[in-house]
Amino acid sequence: MTESRLNSFPRFAQTADAIGATTKKLEKIRILADYLRSLTVEDASIAAIFFTGRAFPRWEERVLSVGGSILWSAVERIANPEAGHADKTYLKHGDLGDMANELLQNHRAADHAPSHTDHLSLQKLAATFNNLAGLRGSGAKLVAIEELLRRAQPLEAKYIIKIATGDLRIGLRESLVEEAIARAFAKPPEDVRRANMLVGDIAATLQLAAAGDLSDAHIRLFHPIGFMLASPVDTPAEALEYFPEGALVEDKFDGIRAQAHKSGRTSKLFSRTLDEIVEFPELYAPLAALQGEFILDGEIIAWRDNRPLPFTELQKRLGRKQPDMWLLQDIPARFIVFDLLYADGELLLDRPLAERRKRLHVLLGGAANSEPNVPPPIAAHFRPPSSSPSPTIQLATTQPFTTVEQFEGAFLDSRQRGHEGIMLKDSASPYKPGQRGRYWLKLKRPLATLDVVVTSVEYGHGKRRGLLSDYTFAARADDGRLVNIGKAYSGLTDAEIQQYTDYFLKHTVKDFGSWRTVEPAVVLEVAFNNIQRSSRHESGYALRFPRIVRIRTDKSPDQIDTLDRVREIFVKQDSTDGSKHAGE
Ligand code: AMP
Repeated sequence: MTESRLNSFPRFAQTADAIGATTKKLEKIRILADYLRSLTVEDASIAAIFFTGRAFPRWEERVLSVGGSILWSAVERIANPEAGHADKTYLKHGDLGDMANELLQNHRAADHAPSHTDHLSLQKLAATFNNLAGLRGSGAKLVAIEELLRRAQPLEAKYIIKIATGDLRIGLRESLVEEAIARAFAKPPEDVRRANMLVGDIAATLQLAAAGDLSDAHIRLFHPIGFMLASPVDTPAEALEYFPEGALVEDKFDGIRAQAHKSGRTSKLFSRTLDEIVEFPELYAPLAALQGEFILDGEIIAWRDNRPLPFTELQKRLGRKQPDMWLLQDIPARFIVFDLLYADGELLLDRPLAERRKRLHVLLGGAANSEPNVPPPIAAHFRPPSSSPSPTIQLATTQPFTTVEQFEGAFLDSRQRGHEGIMLKDSASPYKPGQRGRYWLKLKRPLATLDVVVTSVEYGHGKRRGLLSDYTFAARADDGRLVNIGKAYSGLTDAEIQQYTDYFLKHTVKDFGSWRTVEPAVVLEVAFNNIQRSSRHESGYALRFPRIVRIRTDKSPDQIDTLDRVREIFVKQDSTDGSKHAGE
């Protein structure tokens, strides 16, 4: 095989198919290891990322944002199937990638398509994903993805689509990719796992393994590591289910996550994308004034007149490396610290959170034997510990709470003081770089809830295959018509989904195969994070991250919310929550 063939994407796709064809874990690892070993380190790094089912490394916030409908349209535009055939094919597989593979193969067999001689390489595909992530608007994305898929063989299209949807579905978890790297480069799996935890980047881990430098993967000052992330919960009661013995509760600050590194007189801040943050020079000196060498985790927020400013204010400081005096005074930044990852040569990731917090308290100027977790009076929440060197760097207050009422109280209190909600953390938990797990939970108030009516329903994927589980819903426009404002797939129990599948099958208006319009009769109460303008829906608006709170059997469709109410919330959100956090 020639060099260009080795790094071709068809070969990636064949390898992925072979991995998917066996259920044996060791066999999967062997196939992947052989493949990785056959590539240059640069190509193997890209392949490793793709094999984790991602277009970009795990720590990156960047996403392709190419939804199922764009992929579907692109495939239809290329394969041009007879009416209804795409729906049938999709239902057969329950997977867009497999649907594309079959439709494009049929199309190819019918000899409509050119045969390709130039193979898409891993590097070319990575570059195309880069471009795609930067495009704005679904129209532009559709054009780009169609062009990409036209250049691809059916089997390649299958895996491009699977990567775009975030799951290869070949039974390969990231831990198996780590094991394959260990095998490919004859390194102990434990070393690869540890390195990947520290660097939070499977591509970088592979490079270290290839160079025999896994032991270099210790935390290095001024080399940021992945951030530990939180999983969302919708209610205090749900949080208690995860933490029946209680949790450490902190405010959820609405700012910019930052990791501070400090050694000698130098201090630097890094963002979640592991890039340096350079816009808040007023934080450097107070950080450098703290004792010793360390890595802190926290949130930069804007703070004025004893209150946090909305994120939209802080945003005004982004992109300005040298803010003028006016900006510094008008939008002063603070760094609220909630974790300590490393101090004076000691890696603290595996220590329990409660211990890390104690050390953090001392580092920020509290007395070693005072208790950092006792809740202070509310008014004192954001005062630094009295001996803290600067009000600019502050310790986040943590309170050990054990009941739903306490969680609820902390949540309302936090909102009242201008924060986003609360974070609940397991006091015994290690710090897991780059991972979103259940050790940290976030509870944010939904912006509002709306009562809406279901207008069309769609079959789900995976476990929900064959069930009508995805609901498009509408509000009522000024002229009385129903206009769609979003689509929700979460919030109902399996029993409810089954029950409503039966219901919708009987109340279908028109069957389009994978989806059907239904009689507008079922009223839902939906929660959501914010509202965006949308050209996709006739209403002009789309709810972001909608989830079904409950089915309002007590309401009829003539009692649902109006488009006016949607507009009202849309306008209001900018003065309260803002509409940021695209990645959350
Ligand atoms: P996620 O990024 O999905 O884990 O959402 C949590 C985000 O909330 C983090 O990225 C942080 O920027 C932010 N955050 C705000 N307050 C806290 C806190 N007390 N602990 C951890 N993260 C926090």
